[in-house]
Amino acid sequence: MRYHDSIIELVGDTPLVKLNKVTEGIAATVLAKVEYFNPGGSVKDRIAMRMIEAAEKSGALRPGGTIVEPTSGNTGIGLAIVAQQKGYRCIFVCPDKVSTDKINTLRAYGAEVVVCPTAVAPEHPDSYYNVSDRLVRETPGAWKPDQYSNPENPASHYHSTGPELWQQTDGRITHFVAGVGTGGTISGTGRYLKEASEGRVQVIGADPEGSVYSGGTGRPYLVEGVGEDFWPEAYDRTVADEIVAVSDKDSFQMTRRLAKEEGMLVGGSCGMAVVAALEVARRLGPEDVVVVLLPDGGRGYLSKIFNDEWMADYGFLSSPTEEAKVSDVLARKDAVEH
Ligand code: PMP
Repeated sequence: MRYHDSIIELVGDTPLVKLNKVTEGIAATVLAKVEYFNPGGSVKDRIAMRMIEAAEKSGALRPGGTIVEPTSGNTGIGLAIVAQQKGYRCIFVCPDKVSTDKINTLRAYGAEVVVCPTAVAPEHPDSYYNVSDRLVRETPGAWKPDQYSNPENPASHYHSTGPELWQQTDGRITHFVAGVGTGGTISGTGRYLKEASEGRVQVIGADPEGSVYSGGTGRPYLVEGVGEDFWPEAYDRTVADEIVAVSDKDSFQMTRRLAKEEGMLVGGSCGMAVVAALEVARRLGPEDVVVVLLPDGGRGYLSKIFNDEWMADYGFLSSPTEEAKVSDVLARKDAVEH
């Protein structure tokens, strides 16, 4: 019989898939590292595994312990799955702007979710940050992974994502492109690839326009999971050779093309990373191998990026004809409703 003892054995070892359509006119090979093949549907399963295993080893997390983290997204799902399989309790703290679908997903895995008001200052006792700190202080056996400062976040990529890419490309990778959120992916994977290639691999970060990594101040943008308004400890500023800033509009249009033309239903930060990867690949020749990491799947974004009305509301649709088509549909819908 061939089977795995637990779903968490399937974390990592994700496939590399060539991009064929969106790369038209580009001589270099562009390969996507498709992280939605992880059991929790995102790259964050990797850091969840390693942060929990390191905390078990150090004694920070003991049998019967509780994991407390302020997160509502992919990291929460990864932690919830690993915690459940290893027998830990999980409490997540989320701001009230988080969608009920996300909260229900975390609860489906057995995690507890505490929802905090968004409309209070960070110093308020009910703020997202204060509530999670209080839960850590008041819950016996509590441990907070803190993905923004935990060195096991970049280490998970140094020990898994990096070596996988080096082996999968037979050492032929020349460029690595990834979006930057906590900075764990680019710092750990980038450092491994630099070392393995003796500095030959170029590392490129993709960042939403307005975020600090590409020189912004933290101005709001809509792409989720990437960009920051502060510099996290998980981000190693010495690794990236270049940071490419990408607009929301370009990110979301590429995200839709990846579904329509490459058969990959992925999240908005994937479209953003691919825009940056193609910008780099356009300057390269046929011997170059560009790998772009796609952090998660697109199911969580159906009502936004894959919804024409939402895209039209923000002016993100591509061509005047496409926009005209949508406004026509909206006008007819309006006429029916009234
Ligand atoms: N995309 C998505 C959807 C994410 O959830 C994250 C993690 N915040 C990233 C990209 C960026 O990864 P990292 O935190 O490793 O920089």
